[in-house]
Amino acid sequence: DLAFRGSDLHKTYQTGETVVHALRGIDFAVPRSEMLVLLGPSGSGKSTLLNIIGGLDRPTSGKLYYRDTEITALNDRDLTRYRRAEVGFIFQFYNLIPSLTAEENVRLVTDIADSPMAPSEALALVGLEERRNHYPAQLSGGEQQRVAVARAIAKRPGVLLCDEPTGALDSSTGVRVLETLERAHAELGTTVVIITHNVGIAAMAHRVIHFRDGQIGRVEINEKPIEPA
Ligand code: ADP
Ligand code: ADP
Repeated sequence: DLAFRGSDLHKTYQTGETVVHALRGIDFAVPRSEMLVLLGPSGSGKSTLLNIIGGLDRPTSGKLYYRDTEITALNDRDLTRYRRAEVGFIFQFYNLIPSLTAEENVRLVTDIADSPMAPSEALALVGLEERRNHYPAQLSGGEQQRVAVARAIAKRPGVLLCDEPTGALDSSTGVRVLETLERAHAELGTTVVIITHNVGIAAMAHRVIHFRDGQIGRVEINEKPIEPA
């Protein structure tokens, strides 16, 4: 039962005379029930693939399926609809609105989603219900990122896409953020895809896809992913 299936995906950027081959023929499959990590050097194509999976960008060629839908065949309007309904994004720098409380930041999403959780339920899932009236500046970095996780999961997305979600955090705080992703995965059945440089985090994933120069090098399967502490 696959969440994603990609075949021969290419992405070429052209700026003036310069051509960059960000993805050079990628084939991959992501089972629905997995937490998956994309690992590899800077510039190897990880964010490009994440943006394509999330419907923020389109490949130059190749096919991508989400469940039974061919994402690469959707028009712009349906691609936007897919992104709004199915995809939660988490970035390195939280992207919370500083003038809104934790709960108000989550409510931005739940007000427009089809069958969202209550903001308090989403905040409880990440262990921050009692901080719902705090502003971002009153929270630690780890807590701000957990609010961002609550905001992303509140619309019950089919998939959570995380680009360096722990990149700005120390390792024990990062592990706690990972625990919240793991909980979303376990309780909501969300497919989770994480870009990271952190090999400790990679050890918690079911599958690690190694990137190199726009291609997939090897794929590791962790039979027993390390449980977050
Ligand atoms: P990673 O996430 O592994 O660091 P990226 O997917 O961000 O790698 O980048 C892959 C390559 O594509 C890099 O050479 C990068 O400079 C280039 N690239 C990414 N986005 C763009 C863009 N919008 N325009 C031009 N080049 C880009
Ligand atoms: P975490 O491990 O979740 O990042 P910390 O141990 O860094 O949390 O912080 C513990 C408590 O200290 C937090 O609950 C938060 O309320 C407070 N705190 C931490 N950093 C800041 C900060 N930069 N501004 C205000 N409060 C902070």
